[in-house]
Amino acid sequence: VELSYQTWAEIHLDRIERNVRTIRSRLPAGCKMMAVVKADGYGHGAVQAAAAAIRAGADELAVSRLDEAVRLRQNGIDVPILTLGPIAPREADIAAEHQIAVPVFQAEWLRDMRESRTSPKPLPVHIKMDTGMGRIGIRTKREFEEMLPLLAAGGIDVKGVYTHLATANQADTGYCEKQLARFAEMRGWLDEAGFRDVTAHCANSAAALRDPVYAMDMVRVGASIFGIHTCDEEVRGRHGVPLLPTLSLHTTIIHVKRVAAGECIGYDRSYTAQDDEWIATVPLGYGDGCFRGYAGLELLVDGERAPIVGNICMDQLMIRLPRHYPVGTKATLIGRQRDEAVTLDDLARHIGTIPQQVLLMIAARVPRVYL
Ligand code: PLP
Repeated sequence: VELSYQTWAEIHLDRIERNVRTIRSRLPAGCKMMAVVKADGYGHGAVQAAAAAIRAGADELAVSRLDEAVRLRQNGIDVPILTLGPIAPREADIAAEHQIAVPVFQAEWLRDMRESRTSPKPLPVHIKMDTGMGRIGIRTKREFEEMLPLLAAGGIDVKGVYTHLATANQADTGYCEKQLARFAEMRGWLDEAGFRDVTAHCANSAAALRDPVYAMDMVRVGASIFGIHTCDEEVRGRHGVPLLPTLSLHTTIIHVKRVAAGECIGYDRSYTAQDDEWIATVPLGYGDGCFRGYAGLELLVDGERAPIVGNICMDQLMIRLPRHYPVGTKATLIGRQRDEAVTLDDLARHIGTIPQQVLLMIAARVPRVYL
């Protein structure tokens, strides 16, 4: 039997492609584009998102973990892939076999990795520098020099050097400039050590969109290909790059009732009808990633706003309808109906987070429908 979904996410692959083309058109000539599809393509489905990005001109891909990269390879994706997070030293053979590049930034890791290698295939690596993000990466020349003999001992192919900017989204570029200067100095260490043809990259979406000075040899863009603006309003206003939303989330009215003023809805009697009201139930709850803190927001029904009433349950929530609608009517939590829209930004702001987290809360059980 073919299942029909009551709750589903629509993924607009054509819009991912358009976003990739838009971003690409802003990059300096010769700058490569690495599409970041970690965390299952920011919740969109990594394989489909990666394929769309490549169709639109992405040169390389990044994920966070080795299993994410292997899955892309197993699905026939053959462009260069970098895991942004480190792998376990004993997994180096797997990475080498699949030609998946990994970050290096610890001499100890390189020693452990060498001891566990059996595959003759070289391991592609990007050297990760910490210029001020304070997360992973080399901070001192001494750390780099300790790694040098291990990097030069064969079996390793140094493909890149990269760093991550902590404040590329902010209007004030002072800290970015400090990070850039530090990165330039660190790239000098590689030159001195004789590394050639090493791809240097530092720009996330915010940096890639705001100023070509950050582009270097390649940009690493994630949020922007999924239509998310990560820059502060002021910076966004200045660069004005148009991005399209790439995911919408829909559900279906499964029950409708008339309740009298004073009747209660939901756990803890968290809503009391003020009047005689039409209340609908939809099969969307925090088990689907509809955070309980979304209480107070509205879904769209037939192009009109229908407020969530009562506490959100694990599998269902209730909305107040402006008038009677039949069972089977579509309701939208993220997306557009006629002239009304609920955006990732609306949801994120309501619960004090960023749009990326709203996307990543959408549970695996919510089927992704590709358009
Ligand atoms: N590079 C690194 C190292 C990251 O961790 C991330 C994501 O957090 C990105 C690039 C992509 O950033 P964005 O999604 O803001 O484009």
